[in-house]
Amino acid sequence: MRLLVDLYSAGMSEDCLFCRIVSGELPTDLLAESERSIAFRDINPQAPVHVLVVPRRHVPNVGALAAASSDDLADVFALVSQVARSEGVAENHRVVFNTGAGAGQTIFHAHAHVLGGADFSEHGLGL
Ligand code: AMP
Ligand code: ZN
Repeated sequence: MRLLVDLYSAGMSEDCLFCRIVSGELPTDLLAESERSIAFRDINPQAPVHVLVVPRRHVPNVGALAAASSDDLADVFALVSQVARSEGVAENHRVVFNTGAGAGQTIFHAHAHVLGGADFSEHGLGL
């Protein structure tokens, strides 16, 4: 019970997969981290480079993150940029935030997809 109280007071959701990765409870292929966010490889990559950048704060989507903390939002973008450089895709990559099941969101903890290493140019906005 004490642990649950601690998790909630830290803004975590105990049944959220990304909260469990952020807390270190679940293993991941961690690429970078900051005080406010972490970056790790997507388990089901849709491009040669497919990294997720996740704020440590539990909020359901990027709009809620912007409303909760502009510092957290800025930190996510800083880590996106850092990972794009370290993965060698700084000049050509795509950043996607899905909001809502109808847009393909399956994990309701805000996250950026960083996609690169493939030629997206012929597909326009189609993913
Ligand atoms: P979304 O559909 O925008 O909510 O994105 C969720 C992403 O999380 C998907 O691309 C999944 O492949 C990815 N994913 C699910 N479980 C894990 C995991 N344990 N480690 C890394 N990525 C995951
Ligand atoms: Zn969460």
